[in-house]
Amino acid sequence: MSVSENIKQFLSNEIPSTVKLIAVSKTKPIQLIEEAYQSGYRIYGENKVQELVEKYEALPKDIEWHMIGHMQSNKVKYIAPFVSLIHGIDSFKLLKVVNKEGAKNNRKINCLLQFHIAKEETKFGLDLNEALEFIKSPDFSDLKNINICGVMGMATYTENENTIRSEFKELVHIFNELKKIIKLDTFKEISMGMSGDYKIAVEEGATMVRIGSMLFGKRNYNK
Ligand SMILES: *Cc1c(COP(=O)(O)O)cnc(C)c1O
Repeated sequence: MSVSENIKQFLSNEIPSTVKLIAVSKTKPIQLIEEAYQSGYRIYGENKVQELVEKYEALPKDIEWHMIGHMQSNKVKYIAPFVSLIHGIDSFKLLKVVNKEGAKNNRKINCLLQFHIAKEETKFGLDLNEALEFIKSPDFSDLKNINICGVMGMATYTENENTIRSEFKELVHIFNELKKIIKLDTFKEISMGMSGDYKIAVEEGATMVRIGSMLFGKRNYNK
């Protein structure tokens, strides 16, 4: 089946219409995204700055681009003019850089705070106390060129559904705790769930799922 067929099937059969699908096109050729675009899908995610910029430049400008990967501060400037949502804010330092680049581009950049919910050390993210600390600090209210739209997290890569479910529950708990302090209407997104675990994520309250291989096919990293 084609990518556009896969997207259509996914939207109609796998998630409720209230959940937003981020079609993760990382490592996949521009032509494949173009095809999916032609059939009407506009929301794509990438995890590397350089690849995101290349695809942004090559493809129609009404695509909503999501940066879902870990990001270095010195690369924010390349995506600041156009990125629709940055999912991986894992430090206050990074958030300040995003704010600065937002100001330079005369826009407010939408961001999600990434939390470390998995058992794996290799995954990035804040913990709740860290986040509370900086959200309560006076520096935080000075950041006029960002919107904190919610939270993001990745569950452990495992077959154990109980582990995955409890990690997603943890992210929802974090979201609810932060919501008590960040009383903004824009703070409403919970980005969780990938090809292997989106069903559980949706059951637990995801508002966005990030799906790659299930739509675009397996990735080949052995270059
Ligand atoms: C690659 C990636 C995804 C999509 O993964 P699949 O298992 O291919 O669906 C989702 N989120 C992040 C952060 C990713 O890097």
